[in-house]
Amino acid sequence: MRHRNWRHRAACRNIADPEIFFQLSESSPLTEKAQRFCARCPVTDECLTYAVVHNCWGVWGGVYRPEPTTAAGERARRAARRAMAS
Ligand code: SF4
Repeated sequence: MRHRNWRHRAACRNIADPEIFFQLSESSPLTEKAQRFCARCPVTDECLTYAVVHNCWGVWGGVYRPEPTTAAGERARRAARRAMAS
């Protein structure tokens, strides 16, 4: 039986350095390290959906989402809302 809470199946559940998922730049080596971590995670879809719905920034589901206070973050938020509405 699949666990109802996707977070319990997250590859990053017990990671020692979770800050790698919250870098201010997509080109940061730590962002790339986080994305490699996500590449072997079984719940990328659930994770990214959560981030879109809750407007989270950082690496979610292997995708870098910019900090929402930036212009790029605002554009990403609008695009995410359009994607969710279609
Ligand atoms: S997709 Fe990445 S950030 Fe999301 S739960 Fe998995 S390892 Fe963590």
